[in-house]
Amino acid sequence: MTFAVHGIAVARGIAIGRAVVVGSGRADVAHYFVKPHEIEAEIERVRVGRDAVVEEIQRLQHTITGMGPKEAPHELSALLDVHLMLLQDEELIDGVKHWISERLYNAEWALTTQLEVLARQFDDMEDDYLRERKADLEQVAERILRYMKGMASPVAQPPTPRRKTQQDLLLDDSVDVPLVLVAHDLSPADMLQFKQSVFAGFVTDVGGKTSHTAIVARSLDIPAVVGARSASQLVRQDDWVIIDGDAGVMIVDPSPIILAEYGFKQRQAELERGRLGRLRHTPAVTLDGQKVELLANIELPEDAATALKAGAAGVGLFRSEFLFMGRKGRMPDEEEQYLGYRRAVEGMEGMPVTIRTVDVGADKPLDESRRDAAHLNPALGLRAIRWSLSEPEMFRTQLRAILRAAVHGPVNLLVPMLAHGSEIRQTLSLIDFARAELDNRGVAYGPVRIGAMIEIPAAALSLRTFLKYFDFLSIGTNDLIQYTLAIDRADESVAHLYDPCHPAVLGLVADTIAECRRQGKDVAVCGEMAGDVQFTRLLLGLGLRSFSMHPAQILAVKQEVLRADAARLEPWARAVVASDDPSQALES
Ligand code: PEP
Ligand code: MG
Repeated sequence: MTFAVHGIAVARGIAIGRAVVVGSGRADVAHYFVKPHEIEAEIERVRVGRDAVVEEIQRLQHTITGMGPKEAPHELSALLDVHLMLLQDEELIDGVKHWISERLYNAEWALTTQLEVLARQFDDMEDDYLRERKADLEQVAERILRYMKGMASPVAQPPTPRRKTQQDLLLDDSVDVPLVLVAHDLSPADMLQFKQSVFAGFVTDVGGKTSHTAIVARSLDIPAVVGARSASQLVRQDDWVIIDGDAGVMIVDPSPIILAEYGFKQRQAELERGRLGRLRHTPAVTLDGQKVELLANIELPEDAATALKAGAAGVGLFRSEFLFMGRKGRMPDEEEQYLGYRRAVEGMEGMPVTIRTVDVGADKPLDESRRDAAHLNPALGLRAIRWSLSEPEMFRTQLRAILRAAVHGPVNLLVPMLAHGSEIRQTLSLIDFARAELDNRGVAYGPVRIGAMIEIPAAALSLRTFLKYFDFLSIGTNDLIQYTLAIDRADESVAHLYDPCHPAVLGLVADTIAECRRQGKDVAVCGEMAGDVQFTRLLLGLGLRSFSMHPAQILAVKQEVLRADAARLEPWARAVVASDDPSQALES
């Protein structure tokens, strides 16, 4: 039966494919396809893993047989019996075999997929005791996965992405069909793993439009919906689904008529992309001759290639924290960071690269195990520059790496989440300190322009201080909106109140641009607003000439720039900002 699940639209386009439902915390296993001749070896890997865990449990059982009831209570032995029973249940191995041989999933992916299938069956059980056995099933699967981690995979990674877009694929029951990922939650680090993945679209139960998970999804340039509440419960493994990333809807088990309609929309979107592609080499200049700089936001050094391909004039925001995440707390050292930044700088072939110092915390934990449960309001806690200043060794390591990368091309150093004059002065003196350390070691470094993000209302309201110290400012609208309106950007339950058009937000953005222009300082917007064509004319009218966004959005924004007359937009933009209802005035 066809039904729709509504969420928040975060990345444009239509994806049609089979659902891969991933349980919480299971997203970090590898997802790739094996080749037909590798099927047997892959099944064997799970079997060996399973048998090893069975043996481990049997050994444990043997050890506790000789113990008294104090050291080894009866419950322990009963629990081990349950684990053995689950491990030896043929449904587990048969299911794994099915996913590997029919769908060509790699072993870990097949195991977690079958785990999801069985977990659903447990959820549906009437009996409380049996329902609770789901946790045991998860534990045994975890043990097999852990065992398999230690075994070398005979299968070569990385995966071959398969992205067919024709609607008629749905009639094809072969393995070669697009897959869409449906999960309760994905961390930004998980999302990053999917950059080279097999998935043609994503849906998550939680998240807001500018949560970092949504931001990474957008950078993947594939349709995505977040905040779809119980999507991962409603969809079954392998169901056919359509993701409409423009409307924020997932359609499950679509009828032929709906499929035909979305197949048509998909083709239209591809044609539009093709048309926009022709603008790649066109300079971004308004009708009245104003030059506009369209820059890219990137997460990894490799993204520089995508930025170049999209016609970016440089990188306006390199979110360096992605080099730090998902590493089980081990920080990248100076050399590793230097090589990463250098790759991005060289990748941009002489165009400027703005490297933002690490911004972890809130919805970007260093790794999942460190999710900050101790602090009630992590977005207001030790995040971004606050964390860097509390870890001066780590911070200086990063600063040295950035300074060294500046030998290879123009680099701007950008500092996130500053609010206080004392933080500014501390940051600047640590930059001086990092330079002195390199001098002492006799290591070469290059010149950098230093900028601050304006993303806390306090910063936007004390521009004089900021402009005294910094070469340029970059407005982070994602956080500026979050902190001005007291809306957690990652919380879907308040997503309807997250409003870039709130007069207070627009007032802070307008004042920041105006003050920078008055003082002759460069100013950019690097939050999601910069890549949203709905705001291009407004920002141009407010005097903005530097926009930084996901590479995938550059050409659409360029099209708006080419159609705009910046001088004529000025009075209109002022009126929109002064209006009681800017979102309505924006339409006028
Ligand atoms: C912002 O806050 O607008 C921004 C660009 O930074 P991030 O989204 O990484 O917090
Ligand atoms: Mg921010």
